[in-house]
Amino acid sequence: MKDTVLTQSPVLIIGTGLLGTSIALRLRRAGVSVHLEDASPVAAALARDLGAGSLDPVADPKLVIVAIPPDVTAPAVRSALERFPNAVVSDVASVKDQIRLELEGHPGFERWVGSHPMAGKERSGAIAADADLFVGRPWVIAANERTSAAAIGTVRTLAVDMGGAVVMLDSAEHDHAVALVSHMPQVMSSLVASALRDAPAQALDLAGQGLRDVTRIAESDPLLWTSIISGNRQQIAGVLRGISARLGALVSALDRQGGGLDRISSVIADGNRGVARIPGKHGGARASYAEVIVLIPDEPGMLGKLFAEIGDIGVNIEDLEMEHSAKQQVGRVILKVNPQQGLPLERGLEERGWRVVRTENRQPLVIAIDGPSGSGKSTVARRVADELGLSYLDTGAMYRAATWWALHEGIDLDDEESVLRATQNMPLSIDLDPRDQRFVCADSDITGAIRTSDLAKVVSKVAVNLAVRAELVGMQQAIIAEETTPSGHSQGRGIVVEGRDITTVVAPDAPVRVLLTASEEARLARRAKENLGNADRQAIEATRDEVLRRDRDDSTVSNFTVAEDGVTTIDSSNMTIDDVVDTVISLIPEAYRD
Ligand code: C5P
Repeated sequence: MKDTVLTQSPVLIIGTGLLGTSIALRLRRAGVSVHLEDASPVAAALARDLGAGSLDPVADPKLVIVAIPPDVTAPAVRSALERFPNAVVSDVASVKDQIRLELEGHPGFERWVGSHPMAGKERSGAIAADADLFVGRPWVIAANERTSAAAIGTVRTLAVDMGGAVVMLDSAEHDHAVALVSHMPQVMSSLVASALRDAPAQALDLAGQGLRDVTRIAESDPLLWTSIISGNRQQIAGVLRGISARLGALVSALDRQGGGLDRISSVIADGNRGVARIPGKHGGARASYAEVIVLIPDEPGMLGKLFAEIGDIGVNIEDLEMEHSAKQQVGRVILKVNPQQGLPLERGLEERGWRVVRTENRQPLVIAIDGPSGSGKSTVARRVADELGLSYLDTGAMYRAATWWALHEGIDLDDEESVLRATQNMPLSIDLDPRDQRFVCADSDITGAIRTSDLAKVVSKVAVNLAVRAELVGMQQAIIAEETTPSGHSQGRGIVVEGRDITTVVAPDAPVRVLLTASEEARLARRAKENLGNADRQAIEATRDEVLRRDRDDSTVSNFTVAEDGVTTIDSSNMTIDDVVDTVISLIPEAYRD
């Protein structure tokens, strides 16, 4: 630990449960003088006996950490601010906005820094405490505009000293985030487990890893979680309403004899998209690995030999799966390695006599196409995807779907906050087939409905909502990530994505990036023909607003008129579709060709 303010100051910890005692143990290990308080004398004495600190009163602590359940945190913080007028007071409660509301206006408010170390265990109490509990875990600091910079600095130092990774959020952002990543999973796990209460014993005997994974956190403490969940009611209710709508739609699909298969499959496919967005083991984006599949004889010692030889080849295994069928004399070992190590590993293993199942060597391809409306990007993107066997994603249709859904939910498109919430809960599923891209929302096929002129007139309102953009960009990146793995629609071949900000924001690293432009006349004529069947003067006038005004509005939030470095401009005004398609395909680098 560095020589920080904390190492020189007495610290008072109020609450000797799992978190309080874990912080105390780590501070003690660094030689900090720690004092402990707990409403329960037995709990306090236990923490002292574990070496977490002293029970002697402290006169002038520099830092007080309140580590008690959320529903009692605000009064304890208030009293600490009064008792210790020179101290920075922090708390570790897992909900923040309610506490902020309760403390606002109280003298010393600027010395309070809400924080939330995102670490825990199923077991609670000092006895489960661990000085390394916070290492590598996010430690949220939820400061507000009144918090003093010095106080933030003190808590930041504490978080870093605990080994945590500091994340600065405001309290409402924090509460929404934890509703999604912590509170909702707890509720869902408890609900699944509660369905087992009366399950027949012979059914439970069949339980496998899947059930154990989903119910692992259902053993949590009811008292603590009642306090956490009730402290974050609104945010959790919002998330659960979205899930409940999807669940309702699934149940009605199941009730429809023989039908509703698209709904069933979209529940699973949407789950794939969500899980692909969870950051990987080192906290970065979840990596997509190359898979090398080796068939190994079912003999003792073969696995050990395989690993030793992989070590000789010098390749690092990131993950591993094994499939073994009782009737077969061979097992399949699926080795996951960094993409550039896939080929060397395959070759190295073959040279050493292993049976490697051939996979495609071509790297997954992402083609990003941007352009104004009427530039022909949808037609071109669809054709390119079809010719190359890639998936296809029309991101404009996602903005249209978000608009449709908000209107369907009766939301005023100028109410940015509500439109964001609606987008976050939008039960949208997308078929990535370039020949038949379908959009289904809450059981309705909206592929046609999102193409109306009325909708096109208002879609920019949603597209200029920056929070909605961030949400949709996240969804688009998750789809791209999935399409570059074997489980995607294209089975890992890749995807063509078109829109306004694909080359710049959504997929700036795509190996092929194109800005497709066309003269204003050409674009107006194309849209008029598409919408009204002809391109006479009247039709062109009727299309002007949809094309030109919309581009003007859209260009306030994304750049699709000037190509960034590395983006190839194709002016399609005087080109046939076939020529444009051929030009795009000619831009594909060698490593991505079959
Ligand atoms: O391409 P399309 O006309 O379907 O796009 C509909 C609208 O979606 C655009 O006018 C724009 O407001 C928005 N959009 C966007 N960013 C994208 C794609 C579309 O803002 N990547």
